[in-house]
Amino acid sequence: MKVLVLGAGQLARMMALAGAPLNISISAYDVNSDNIVHPLTQQLLGNGLAQALVDADVVTAEFEHIPLPVLAQCQQSGKFLPGAQAIQVGGDRRLEKSLLQTAGVATSAFTVINNETDFNAAIAQLGLPLVFKSALAGYDGKGQWRLKDAAAAPALWQELAAFLAADPQQAIVAEQFIRFDREVSLVGARNRHGEIKVYPLTENHHVNGVLSVSLARPLDTALQQQAEQMFTAVAEQLNYVGVLAIEFFDVQGKLLVNELAPRVHNSGHWTQQGADCCQFANHLRAVCGLPLGSTALIRPTLMVNILGEDQVPNSILELPALGLHWYGKTKRAGRKMGHINLSANSTAELKARFAQLIDLLPAATFPELEQMLQQL
Ligand code: ATP
Ligand code: MG
Ligand code: MG
Repeated sequence: MKVLVLGAGQLARMMALAGAPLNISISAYDVNSDNIVHPLTQQLLGNGLAQALVDADVVTAEFEHIPLPVLAQCQQSGKFLPGAQAIQVGGDRRLEKSLLQTAGVATSAFTVINNETDFNAAIAQLGLPLVFKSALAGYDGKGQWRLKDAAAAPALWQELAAFLAADPQQAIVAEQFIRFDREVSLVGARNRHGEIKVYPLTENHHVNGVLSVSLARPLDTALQQQAEQMFTAVAEQLNYVGVLAIEFFDVQGKLLVNELAPRVHNSGHWTQQGADCCQFANHLRAVCGLPLGSTALIRPTLMVNILGEDQVPNSILELPALGLHWYGKTKRAGRKMGHINLSANSTAELKARFAQLIDLLPAATFPELEQMLQQL
């Protein structure tokens, strides 16, 4: 099978790595350059989307911020999964919030802001503190503003007004600030027959809005059931095919959906060695019409993102059950450059191995890990 992936980043790369043993070959469409490239080498394979759509058996995406004409062109091919609607919903917080409402799943209270009247109404209706998010193009906590004190509202509005004026397509979604106990996510797959398999809930730790560590270990089954129910409601509402990720806030055992990602997800990278079938293989299986693989947790596993660095000490490779994954990208401050997966046979053993890993990593590059170890 030939699968064309919209986007040529690390997620397309890891799909290619997972697809090879299944005889699924991946080509990647770099939306910015309009080039078709090899997902591992970035070698140029062709120009333009039209011919690539003809050549592919299946078309999918590794990110949701894709121009509408490109989505329409892919939809037209009849080969696009999970399809234009799901990608659009993932890329526009207005559509995402209304989809969540239609699916009947809980999310933080919100309003949409297009002008100053809306801005003042959001504060009056939702109260403070508030989180403001750009409706389009937000990722890694970019395009977000916080408001704690009413006194800061006029200055914030000046900033938001300038942001809105710069792009007529944009809007802002105001959300109640949630005092959550922790953040968790559910990654799962739905195939063409409507069969759903989900991985266990993953606990996620963010630093400055960017995922730093994900941890998969046996968790409360009631919480897992709640998440699975919400996942099923959203996936069925979208008639979704492929891997879907849902981020939640856990508020005293009650889950609220933060957002969804219509694709494989950073918080699912641990599945490369914590599950028999990783999220990348399961995404390809789903979109190619193959049976889904097991999503059961085979051993507690955590993932550490490598941000803004292109080297780590080789000595970490001496640790048992450690996987190092580089994305082959050029170094830039804060950029997702790679990740480390670490597994063990029990949570206690994982904690001990994590402590060993932290000792080997330069503290300046990974300043938050020590604190996360304490939370384990
Ligand atoms: P991602 O890279 O996950 O796509 P994003 O830019 O789409 O990030 P969100 O996931 O919406 O952003 O927000 C980033 C982080 O900000 C969340 O993981 C959470 O820690 C915090 N956050 C977002 N919304 C809220 C909220 N309503 N209340 C409290 N914290 C929030
Ligand atoms: Mg997001
Ligand atoms: Mg998020």
